[in-house]
Amino acid sequence: MERTFMAIKPDGVQRGLVGEILRRFEAKGFTLVGLKLMHVSKELAEKHYDVHRERPFFPGLVEFITSGPLVAMVWEGDGVVASARKMIGATNPLSAEPGTIRGDFGISIGRNLIHGSDAIETAQREIALWFSSEELVSWQPAAVAWLVES
Ligand code: UDP
Repeated sequence: MERTFMAIKPDGVQRGLVGEILRRFEAKGFTLVGLKLMHVSKELAEKHYDVHRERPFFPGLVEFITSGPLVAMVWEGDGVVASARKMIGATNPLSAEPGTIRGDFGISIGRNLIHGSDAIETAQREIALWFSSEELVSWQPAAVAWLVES
């Protein structure tokens, strides 16, 4: 079953949007299989954003991600990687469509509330980086029969 990694960034936590964001993915029909509130180390933040290491915004991004608690999570479901990216919206919240998380709640690219893996392979790498296998819970929601055709 497909899984994706997402993180509610420190701005989302400070602004009290954790419940709203979890609600959207639950209501959509995806299954939560990993969840933790954590203060991220500089080392983990740098590893997570390694592809951006040479970009001018990298130091500010690492400082922001480590500046307060963050909610790390893993969600499961058919097509969850691409669907979650759509629900998150464009990187710049001012360009993100209304109805998306960034489109509804943000106005600045450096405070865009949430991260979501951009491809299945990235999701696998990020899940392994953020969660141990014991922290992930495999389960089947009772509602599954009402969500997908058997
Ligand atoms: N970012 C930033 N300034 C920029 C571009 C990106 O602060 O000019 C941050 C922003 O938090 C973004 C993250 O770097 O979410 C990773 O950028 P990416 O292009 O991978 O966007 P995403 O996949 O998060 O939409």
